[in-house]
Amino acid sequence: MKLVSVVVPCYNEEEVLPMFYDEITKVTDGMTKEHPELEFEFLFINDGSKDRTLEIFRELADKDKRVRYISFSRNFGKESGMYAGLKNAKGDYVVVMDADLQHPPAFLPQMYNYVKDGEFDCATTRRTSRTGESKVRSWFARLFYKIMNKISQTEIVDGAQDFRFMTRQMVDAILEMSEYNRFSKGIFSWVGFRVQYMPYENVERPAGTTSWSFWGLFKYSLEGIMAFSTAPLAFSIFLAILCAVISVPLYLLAIVAAILEWAAATFLAVTGSVFLVGAMILLSIGILGMYLGKTYMEVKKRPIYIAGETDESYRKSKTDKK
Ligand code: UDP
Ligand code: MG
Repeated sequence: MKLVSVVVPCYNEEEVLPMFYDEITKVTDGMTKEHPELEFEFLFINDGSKDRTLEIFRELADKDKRVRYISFSRNFGKESGMYAGLKNAKGDYVVVMDADLQHPPAFLPQMYNYVKDGEFDCATTRRTSRTGESKVRSWFARLFYKIMNKISQTEIVDGAQDFRFMTRQMVDAILEMSEYNRFSKGIFSWVGFRVQYMPYENVERPAGTTSWSFWGLFKYSLEGIMAFSTAPLAFSIFLAILCAVISVPLYLLAIVAAILEWAAATFLAVTGSVFLVGAMILLSIGILGMYLGKTYMEVKKRPIYIAGETDESYRKSKTDKK
């Protein structure tokens, strides 16, 4: 038998949870009929909700023994919810999805098809449109992906989402990333593996409201940049070069002015010196920043490598298929 764990982080989702449960069980029942080797568990995370979310979990757990849940002592954020879910999921496969039906359960059978033969380690959706989102927000989102992919080695696909069907191997790799400030979009991409992207049109929430404010998203995107890039730390080196370049014509002008005995000679020389000294200070800060960046990355204690396949796993998959 193969166990699939469905991890669902929830924050104030009383309105959609019953709908979500109906939808997901409909889909998973269909899947167990088609693939008798499959079993499911549903692992709900209550991220410090202030509404009846926890009561609904209890009701679901009473009537369905496949339902498990973890309830946080307060709101820790979706990242923590996903981590708790991945850490406690027992499945051979783990699905991460939102409770609000913006991640349609109907994708699961197709996702399983991609992953089951070992052709892919992860199947995920990718939004091709951002309908239902304000223009300003979409613009900022695009800008974020552009900046992020310029300054970070970790590629983050525009429109990629936290709706994933993953193998145990990939989940274990993600859990090896023990960093405290978690930016899952980056982590999913950092661990690598063969990922299948499935395009789809954005779906709007049937009920409840998004818990993301514009400011919240802005802070989250800074989090992402800081978690996967140390380029901002070296930014002052760029400023140092700029200041040094500006100081050169100022000095040249000062010399010319001195020869021609212009009154501005002293002023130009002093301004040139200000820029030159500024450049030296900024350069020193930039060097500090670069060392700090190295230290920062070391402190994260990320794994040095993640293996995809070994002879051992290859032999095991062959005997499993027999
Ligand atoms: N969520 C959570 N903790 C939070 C905020 C959100 O667990 O602090 C959950 C929420 O219940 C939902 C998912 O994360 O299942 C996505 O949240 P939301 O729909 O608000 O975000 P959006 O779809 O607008 O990105
Ligand atoms: Mg949502």
